[in-house]
Amino acid sequence: MQQDTCSNFWISTIAQWPEPRPRLEASIQADVAIVGAGFTGLWTAYYLKTLAPHLAIVVLEAQRVGHGASGRNGGWVVGNLAGLERYVGELPMERRRECCQVVADNVDDIGNVLERGSIAADFNKGGALYAAARYPDQIAIQKGYLAHLHELGHDEANCSWLDADQLAEKARFRNGYGGIYHRQVATVNPVKLVTGLAETIERLGVTIHEQSRVTLIGQHEAITEQGAVEAPIIVCATEGYAERFHDFKKHVIPVQSLVIATEPLTQDVWQEIGMSERLAFADASRLINYGHRSADGRLVFGARGSYAFGGKSKHRLAISQDDIRLRRDLLADLFPVLQDVTISHGWGGSLGLSRNFRPHGILDRESGIATAGGYAGEGVAAAHLFGRTLADLILERDSRLASMPWVFTNASHRHLIKRWEPEPLRWLAAQVITYSYAGEEALMKRNKPAPLIKPVLTKANDFLHRLSSERVSHQHRLYLCVTPSGISRYRLLCIAMKPTLSLE
Ligand SMILES: Cc1cc2nc3c(=O)[nH]c(=O)nc-3n(C[C@H](O)[C@H](O)[C@H](O)COP(=O)(O)OP(=O)(O)OC[C@H]3O[C@@H](n4cnc5c(N)ncnc54)[C@H](O)[C@@H]3O)c2cc1C
Repeated sequence: MQQDTCSNFWISTIAQWPEPRPRLEASIQADVAIVGAGFTGLWTAYYLKTLAPHLAIVVLEAQRVGHGASGRNGGWVVGNLAGLERYVGELPMERRRECCQVVADNVDDIGNVLERGSIAADFNKGGALYAAARYPDQIAIQKGYLAHLHELGHDEANCSWLDADQLAEKARFRNGYGGIYHRQVATVNPVKLVTGLAETIERLGVTIHEQSRVTLIGQHEAITEQGAVEAPIIVCATEGYAERFHDFKKHVIPVQSLVIATEPLTQDVWQEIGMSERLAFADASRLINYGHRSADGRLVFGARGSYAFGGKSKHRLAISQDDIRLRRDLLADLFPVLQDVTISHGWGGSLGLSRNFRPHGILDRESGIATAGGYAGEGVAAAHLFGRTLADLILERDSRLASMPWVFTNASHRHLIKRWEPEPLRWLAAQVITYSYAGEEALMKRNKPAPLIKPVLTKANDFLHRLSSERVSHQHRLYLCVTPSGISRYRLLCIAMKPTLSLE
């Protein structure tokens, strides 16, 4: 991890950085080799070693522990999965409820492991508000989202509606019309979590090599520039940082996401904002805005992702002053008391978006390659769930996690996840959808009638959004069969547009 304390707030909370761990400079053998020391790789190692202490496990990290999204994210620990509807939409309600229970329980499971293992990562389960907090039109959007959560199998006890007064008891937005309260959401300091977890697994006997980029996966072998690990199972946990490694980037692309942190706010300011339970919040914009109150009394706020031509991963932490200003203005729009607040940090990174728009946990027993990712910006909790699941698959445990619909064995990611379309289609589509969403938001903000354009734009954006549901995809495919040539170009565009729909 680049230790730039000026840009990444989480890094500035670590008092002392450990010395770099040694590179791999030999050919060694192990039971499991894990590529990537983010949450997915480290949780996989944690559960493997906890369940089967005799296993020799080696983690290979190209840079330092937490260099990727795990050391840079917004700190939300969400009891949900992005793209869940694609897995559970067609299942009977009882099974949907079971799946939702698994993803909801996952948040408490993380809290329990941290407590048991004494990993101090400022874990706080204060729930999250999905607020209608900018324009009246957002009330209908959020009520629709609540109905969607219930349809998926989340129960009323976990996800419920707050009217304007109830919302104000939790957080006082400029225009707090109401919103959803989701109880199964926590927040965490991700750098404390990823570094604490790495130390924990080392104590359990796992070996971590830093600055050891894997350049090739051979026959049951992970090869670095100066060494190799021979192992029957190789876990690829590179999500939005796969780059030239293997062919993962053809199936999971990096999408860039940026975050800011304010200076610590005074008690008076917090009095005005509320959030005494240190909860998390998001508003109903399609161009996602989300944040939470940090343990030391700052607001950490992320908004709007982007796609870089060619699918480049973001390695530099720092972001531009313009990027900081944009987010600061959005934050002050929600909480006017922050009009003149000082932004002390601004940073960014890359999350992974799978071409199937849903996360996956895969173990291909034939090749011995396991992988998980595609969390679409909701990977902090998901990486725990999928890391734990990979451990169950590798150990052939007949567990509830291994039976979930997002788990696949005996096939390669090449067959299970579609490939992304080539450039410039991806980039062009991302631009179109970003402007389309921004246009709709500008109209909502004006709050003046625009009888023709507003409904048309909203319908068009709703359509793009619904493309993430299997049901619409089926209809869409049917339509394509009828008129293959002209429409198929449009279909490619629409599907390629999807990345920005799911940004965290
Ligand atoms: C700015 C930002 C904000 C976010 N906010 C949230 C949030 O609030 N809540 C949420 O749930 N999710 C959030 N996410 C997403 C979440 O952080 C990620 O989905 C999650 O951390 C992915 O973890 P991972 O271990 O799979 O991948 P990563 O943490 O990206 O780790 C991949 C690792 O693999 C290493 N690697 C890559 N190639 C090689 C190689 N060839 N050899 C060896 N090592 C290699 C990389 O260096 C990296 O350390 C955010 C992401 C970003 C970027």
